Amino acid sequence: MSDDEEVLEVLKAAGLDILSCMHCGTCTGSCPSGRHTGLNTRRILRDARKNRPVLEDKDLWLCTTCYTCQERCPRGIKITDALLEIRRLAVRKGLMLPEHRRVSEMVLEYGHAVPLDEETKKKREELGLDPLPNTAQHSPEALEQVRTLLRTCRFDELTAEK
Ligand code: SF4
Ligand code: SF4
Repeated sequence: MSDDEEVLEVLKAAGLDILSCMHCGTCTGSCPSGRHTGLNTRRILRDARKNRPVLEDKDLWLCTTCYTCQERCPRGIKITDALLEIRRLAVRKGLMLPEHRRVSEMVLEYGHAVPLDEETKKKREELGLDPLPNTAQHSPEALEQVRTLLRTCRFDELTAEK
């Protein structure tokens, strides 16, 4: 089975039926992200249905998961859930945007997607605050707990460069 055929199988296994789409375009027309980017939700679903390549489609990552399309689809298709499932499969195949891989590394290293930098720490001190708030970045013990959780669900393996 090709990767693209696997997409439909994975959606089916997750109980996500995208085959009843009637191409009304409500999803694309409602998409706040699509107003500012090239994201065309209907097109991604159509490509998935036709076994065309979607796993390497960078537009897949432009969805902000706001769920507007899913709420409005007249066929009740769980569009956002389907996009998330396709993304999960893409990650399992090692297909992630470099930016997302970098953010994942940050989470593994600091316990935060956006750790506090030296400049911010200095500003906090000037305001009479601890340089670090009471988060995983502050506590080696809490950071180790976060890392244990991430390793347990294989986040480190999934997000590592293949
Ligand atoms: S809103 Fe639903 S039925 Fe309409 S194009 Fe999008 S997925 Fe298909
Ligand atoms: S969930 Fe994603 S695809 Fe759907 S409307 Fe929101 S940004 Fe667009």
